[in-house]
Amino acid sequence: MKDVYTLADLRDWPAATADEEPPLRLAVFGDPVAHSASPPMHNAALAATGLAALYCRLHIRPEELAEAVRLLAPQQFIGVNCTIPHKAAALPLMDRVDDHARRIGVVNTIALDGGQLIGFNTDGPGLVRAVRTVFGVDLRDMRVLVLGAGGGAGRAIAMQCGIEGCERLALVNRTPEKARELAAELAPYFAGPRVYGPNARLEVVPWEEDAVQRQIEHTDLIINCTSVGMKASDPSPLSSSILQPHLLIYDTIYTARRTRLMLAADEAGARSANGLSMLLHQGALAFEIWFNREAPLAEMRVALVAHANRT
Ligand code: NAP
Repeated sequence: MKDVYTLADLRDWPAATADEEPPLRLAVFGDPVAHSASPPMHNAALAATGLAALYCRLHIRPEELAEAVRLLAPQQFIGVNCTIPHKAAALPLMDRVDDHARRIGVVNTIALDGGQLIGFNTDGPGLVRAVRTVFGVDLRDMRVLVLGAGGGAGRAIAMQCGIEGCERLALVNRTPEKARELAAELAPYFAGPRVYGPNARLEVVPWEEDAVQRQIEHTDLIINCTSVGMKASDPSPLSSSILQPHLLIYDTIYTARRTRLMLAADEAGARSANGLSMLLHQGALAFEIWFNREAPLAEMRVALVAHANRT
């Protein structure tokens, strides 16, 4: 199997993948996509469950997405995942979109059903499962601060907080207009009465240390959805001096190492986790959609950690 296939390959899939057994019937669409950990994770799941299919990477540029999606049924795909930058653009290309993905406005999983394309979103539900697994708490019980509430992951997670009925949500983003737009969409979810103190249930907070610090005593869980920390040389997006021991800190960045934000959490005595668990659970939920059976989590986790250790 090649590391990365292209639209030209997809147009003539039987010829491009003639030597592959079992056949390549699942993929991740992205641009870039060469870094994606989804193939090792899903191929481990397929091998463990004895399903006769393989999962690969497809480098699809934005202008190629519509054609690539149209080719899925004729080329006998079972499903695909969409990653950067296709998650929002995929939604209008679907024949049907499940209610949850429609509310979030983003599709990360496509399933084929009798030639029809059905869009789902497993990122938000994957985060819910991850938070429950790594911290032993339910997202809905948390007062949440989303850092990076302007990108795709921040949006999906903030919408999930609204859908779950979190008591409180603070949105922080370097470009504040994006957080304000998201807050306007989220307002109906936070219209109910306050339970904890006089603070607004939904707030947009400036990307400034003082302003974030003032939120900390009204926050249980901080979720970093910025890309700050993806490179080992990046600083922590929050300084340890403003963090406190009561916080749970979830860094969505998936890596085998402790991120700078996690190290800052350590210094402050706060518990933290990186995004491998979210990646695992969004993948497991996609697997369950495609095959209508439980995903082999243990095998998927081993493959994911091995991949993260190599990169
Ligand atoms: P994206 O749409 O490009 O969003 C990037 C976000 O980071 C935006 O909010 C952006 O703010 C902010 N940002 C970028 N550089 C910054 C800087 N120097 N200072 C402050 N803020 C900065 O990307 P995405 O798809 O949402 O991904 C974001 C992160 O989530 C990545 O680290 C990715 O690995 C992670 N993720 C994890 C999973 C998982 O399963 N674990 C799934 C999806 C994504 P502006 O709006 O101001 O540009």
